[in-house]
Amino acid sequence: MKFLFFPMQAHGHVNPMLPLIQELVSRGEEAVVYTTREFEAAVRNTGASLRLLDDALAIPPSFPGLQGVGSGQAMKEMLPVLLSIMRRSLREAPRVVEQARAEQADCIVYDPMAFWGRAAAAKLQLPAAIFQTSFALTHSPTLQRALRANMKGLPSPRALLAILRMLWTSEVLHWRHGLPRMSLGAAFTTLEELNLIPVTRKYQPDAEAFDERFLFMGPSVLPRNDRGDFPLEQLEGKPVLLISLGTTPMNLRPDFYKACFEAFRDTRWQVVMACGMGLDPATLGPAPSNVLVRQRVPQLEVLERARVFLTHGGMNSTMEGLWHGVPLAVFPQFGDQPVNASRVSELGLGVTLSAQQALDPKVLRETIERLDTDPGYRTRLSEYQKELREAGGHRRGADALQQFAAARRGGPRQKAA
Ligand code: UDP
Repeated sequence: MKFLFFPMQAHGHVNPMLPLIQELVSRGEEAVVYTTREFEAAVRNTGASLRLLDDALAIPPSFPGLQGVGSGQAMKEMLPVLLSIMRRSLREAPRVVEQARAEQADCIVYDPMAFWGRAAAAKLQLPAAIFQTSFALTHSPTLQRALRANMKGLPSPRALLAILRMLWTSEVLHWRHGLPRMSLGAAFTTLEELNLIPVTRKYQPDAEAFDERFLFMGPSVLPRNDRGDFPLEQLEGKPVLLISLGTTPMNLRPDFYKACFEAFRDTRWQVVMACGMGLDPATLGPAPSNVLVRQRVPQLEVLERARVFLTHGGMNSTMEGLWHGVPLAVFPQFGDQPVNASRVSELGLGVTLSAQQALDPKVLRETIERLDTDPGYRTRLSEYQKELREAGGHRRGADALQQFAAARRGGPRQKAA
């Protein structure tokens, strides 16, 4: 069978889909992935075919005006830029849908933030599954509240204008090409007959509200062969602390990285710090000799060697840390990150740091020391690792997709809700 994959063009969205794609390819299925050039190597590693989207749709590593602003304000700064990328995506949709038509696929798998997938599924009347890269959102009041908290107060006039433009473009495409309408909340309300969720049911807030259309397959972590020239050998035999705030422009926190320099200077820790593609490490000043700073690091390979992970609590980073049995200190920035921070703290797998705590070198040092030396964390983590591995991840997801696509083959597309 032939599966078309439409991830959103961001690391946190492409990475978790890769093991599932690789699994389907290894089972002899055909997989085609629509994404931007940035992810070409990662997709080709899975054995899938690639269809390149216009590079103008790539998300920039940094947005002007973002540095040093709090997370509520940062979302406002980011919103107009994100909306204009969404609008560009909308404009591309009719072309992508026609390209997808020519593929003669059996099933579409899409991230609800990638409008092309939803448009192609609706327009071509193909069976479709959602691959959510975070919690299931549609029926969870806890998550809806958390996501609303990202935007305090009214959007800026620039953002309001961008919203109106996007809605107008969506309306035009609806009338001209019969594409589904786009709304600001579409990514949070879209539902298909099969919805793949990369967390376990126990980890999902308000889990009882989700019916059998939701498959809580748990995370999938497979080697990504992205080591490049990173000096892993420098970590051998040392207590490694990984520090990363993820890959979105919200990682632009030089104040935090400098606090980390102070916290871990002249300590026993070998620190690996990923400061993000939007920041030149040289602007942080000279790093202490025990701190290795890169814009990007091979996170999975570092986690294999790490004792503690100081993370922003992105869904992938959280799951990757727990998968490797590494206690987490979570300094959440936005989106689902505060929810991950709460879940990790509630389960006793790590702690949450407030903005004030995360900028205090003494608190940082003591927190990381406690996570490493309190044996309770590692005991609970090894229990939790079992739960994660038993959830099935990409294998269970591939089983479900194959069954779903085979059952629907040639039949009409069903409406999910
Ligand atoms: N990642 C990486 N190297 C880095 C930073 C991040 O490989 O230096 C990967 C990480 O392993 C994860 C993804 O990028 O798979 C980030 O996703 P996450 O959901 O944690 O955060 P986001 O970047 O979406 O905020």
